[in-house]
Amino acid sequence: MRYTNLFVPTLKESPAEAEVISHQLMLRAGFIRKLTSGIYTYLPYGLAAIRRVESIVREEMNRAGAQEILMPMVQPADLWRESGRYLKYGPELLRFTDRHERESCLGPTHEEVITDIARREIHSYRDLPVNLYQIQTKFRDEIRPRFGLMRGREFIMKDAYSFDIDDKAAEQSYRAMHDAYTRIFSRCGLDFRCVEADSGAIGGSFSHEFMVLAETGEDTIAVCTACSWAANLEKAAVLPPRQKNIAAMLPLGEVETVGKKKVATVCEFLGIPTTALAKTIVFTADGVAVALLIRADREVELVKIKNYLGVQELRVAEEKEIFDAVGVAVGYLGPVALPIRLLVDQEITGMANFTTGANRKNYHLVNVNPNRDVLLKEVGDFRRIDGDDPCPSCGGPLQLIQGIEVGHIFKLGTAYSETLKAYYQDQNGNEKPLVMGCYGIGVSRVVAAAIEQNHDKNGIIFPVPLAPYQVVVLNLATDDDELTAVAETIYADLQAAGIETLLDDRGERPGVKFKDADLLGFPYRVTVGKRFREHGMAEVVRRRDGRSEACAPAELAGFLGDRLSGGSD
Ligand code: ATP
Ligand code: MG
Repeated sequence: MRYTNLFVPTLKESPAEAEVISHQLMLRAGFIRKLTSGIYTYLPYGLAAIRRVESIVREEMNRAGAQEILMPMVQPADLWRESGRYLKYGPELLRFTDRHERESCLGPTHEEVITDIARREIHSYRDLPVNLYQIQTKFRDEIRPRFGLMRGREFIMKDAYSFDIDDKAAEQSYRAMHDAYTRIFSRCGLDFRCVEADSGAIGGSFSHEFMVLAETGEDTIAVCTACSWAANLEKAAVLPPRQKNIAAMLPLGEVETVGKKKVATVCEFLGIPTTALAKTIVFTADGVAVALLIRADREVELVKIKNYLGVQELRVAEEKEIFDAVGVAVGYLGPVALPIRLLVDQEITGMANFTTGANRKNYHLVNVNPNRDVLLKEVGDFRRIDGDDPCPSCGGPLQLIQGIEVGHIFKLGTAYSETLKAYYQDQNGNEKPLVMGCYGIGVSRVVAAAIEQNHDKNGIIFPVPLAPYQVVVLNLATDDDELTAVAETIYADLQAAGIETLLDDRGERPGVKFKDADLLGFPYRVTVGKRFREHGMAEVVRRRDGRSEACAPAELAGFLGDRLSGGSD
């Protein structure tokens, strides 16, 4: 491709709306343009990068035995009602009515449609296993679309669905997808970790996420520095307290704490560390008030509570809701004689003689003890793991790092096949529900994540496998026929050698060409300029580290071919 033919509208400045670097660079390098909130046009250069990811995904899915299909984007509400998700999915599901008053929605995911295919077309154990995938535009009406392609409302996803005869076979399918994902993200040249994850709104029993490590990632993951354990914070299990505080129980007492409502002010006033205070937080769980008792310095993990309660909606209750349910002002809530359901974080069971609110305005209780004062009916792991907690698998030290979720695999079991009645006949003629798995990759997000992880102050540093063009040839003397002929020959040679090459044949100043080459992130830059006459060599510069080498034009194809296939870039 010639630069003069390429539609790549670059920008000198970063648009103010772009908060993260991948979004800034994608706008500046002419990858995408915004139509409206969370909805983008993919321009040629951006689409080319997306296509690179798609082709790696396709190759690996096909290699793993999955077959490509393409399902409709518009889906009937009735099918979603049948699965029970039409209401349950929440406002991310864009619902609308067509001219015949038929309710429909735009597919945020395709479990319903694929299970409908399966119940119609899969009849016997002889038809199994089956794994079908598609690469398609999804629509989710995200509450906060942001960071460009990282969290769009419209985005490109690869989603695959497996069907098996039983749990054991389904586990094999899951493992095959796990391995395929590992190959995909390795081939994309990404630094990633596979972590244990919560199965969320999709449902199911077992799941892993693939996280690209980047400081701007919206997810935090806990990684063990001693073993291979890693998990999303939402899921990361905290070990029960190892030791009980065996201090003798002191008599329960009430102290006046006028106007002291915040953890820090109560602790300062009473002269105690935050580890000696337990806070009582009230939530609204599907409209019902539920309290949690947790050590005051700990963070609550909402997903753990939500899963424990099995509710759809969970949020911290508002002051008025709390007062209506408990009759006490926020700041003085406590577990003793609390009139609503109380969950207790397991860490509390190891504490003794701690302080809590007294369920009376301007008072706290001291020397509260589990069992004696607090009913331990519902004890569980409700807090977020901390950097100084031990690894739940080996006890080793943990590290908390940021990640971008690029892939998610779920073992669904029979949740969808049972509700949607997708059965097959086994060897003995018995009707059995299909055992399912589902597997997603955020294809457009992968490109954003790759840039987030691979850039410098001058622009993108494309990993070779994702670069739309692996080499750019800069002709710095377009007004010189002799040098232009050299650049043209190099361009033709590289293309003939199967290297995707862009020839910068614009009549721009060298400085502009260098800047654009850096911004667009080509892994290698070959320069033909005035100095070529002195020694007959082209300059080859590697984008990643600026390493510069000289090479005779006739040897360039071989030289770059070796570098590009060496995997060292
Ligand atoms: P997130 O927690 O980031 O919202 P999710 O758990 O809702 O993701 P899945 O339903 O597992 O996502 O979808 C599969 C993959 O699709 C994700 O791993 C992610 O890479 C991608 N994805 C999900 N939502 C978006 C979005 N709004 N924009 C771009 N990619 C997305
Ligand atoms: Mg989501």
